[in-house]
Amino acid sequence: MATTDDVVGRICGELRGRQRFLLTSHVRPDGDSIGSQLALAYALDRLGKQVRIVNHDAATPGLQAFPGVNSIEIGDRVEGDFDAAVVLECGDLSRTGVEGLDRFFLINIDHHPGNTMFGAINWFDQSAAACGEMVFDIVRGLGVGLTTEIATHIYVAILTDTGSFHYSSISPRTFDICRQALEAGIDPVGIARTVYDSNNVGKLKLFGAVLSSIQVDDSGRLAVIYMDREMARKCGGTYDDTEGLINLPLTVKEVQAVAFFKEWDNGEYRVSLRSKGEIDVCQVAKQFGGGGHKNAAGCTVPGSYAQARQVITGLVLQAIDRAGVNA
Ligand code: 5GP
Ligand code: MN
Repeated sequence: MATTDDVVGRICGELRGRQRFLLTSHVRPDGDSIGSQLALAYALDRLGKQVRIVNHDAATPGLQAFPGVNSIEIGDRVEGDFDAAVVLECGDLSRTGVEGLDRFFLINIDHHPGNTMFGAINWFDQSAAACGEMVFDIVRGLGVGLTTEIATHIYVAILTDTGSFHYSSISPRTFDICRQALEAGIDPVGIARTVYDSNNVGKLKLFGAVLSSIQVDDSGRLAVIYMDREMARKCGGTYDDTEGLINLPLTVKEVQAVAFFKEWDNGEYRVSLRSKGEIDVCQVAKQFGGGGHKNAAGCTVPGSYAQARQVITGLVLQAIDRAGVNA
């Protein structure tokens, strides 16, 4: 069986032997998508390679200030020639939202359960707390030193994908990489402020309105919050920028899981799910064609809010029961 060292070695060999790279990640990129892509982009740049990053959606405001983010191109199609496309932090090629990638030699680096192994080379490590941990191994494998930019992006990936060190995916390795990032000169306080303290008043008002919608089930273990476009308009908040909001109901001690319903297009609802400990909300998301991780997942559900809510809350309560968390 191929070991991690083998596959990292193969990927590094392909990266060294090729010159022009296209990097991409999943739609609505999060901190792990942006951090993983830019850490790898800076490392390839150190080796004199040509790199372009194309994402379907822009980075959220909290991520915009990090080095290189303004060089990311937004589009739904790749034009031009590349020697390889590296798809990071993305379980399936279609989830990039970017067309034209299948023309290239594809390198798939990801940690989402259910990755469809769409690459010519696939490195899938479900045990990684962030794809950024895997990119760290690639950077080391390429023999590139940890510059402040590279270390910053790896730290952003880990900080955000562990929900600020809240999720059970954290391992000793997570902290070992963070230690090395600190030794490389990153500013963890500044990074946390940049990622999390970039709110505006409209966003806070929207947070207030959404939190006011909170409903907790009879057992006190499941919180549901709701948002529609009209709420966002009234508050002056940006509809797509509710990063961090879903984690707030989890700060209630008894609450074990949160479902966040957002009115979406075509009469559908976007559902974000979060949980504590062993409660697996990814299994719930997968039943609707979504995915994610045990403690953080998402999917899109058709039907009215009442229908979507009933079916999702039923399944999440079952997941809580399965994990043996009693009221
Ligand atoms: P969020 O709730 O922040 O949108 O997503 C939480 C986690 O679930 C992230 O890792 C995200 O990539 C994943 N996720 C969210 N929505 C979907 C989806 O529709 N499909 C898949 N495969 N993963 C999703
Ligand atoms: Mn991730």
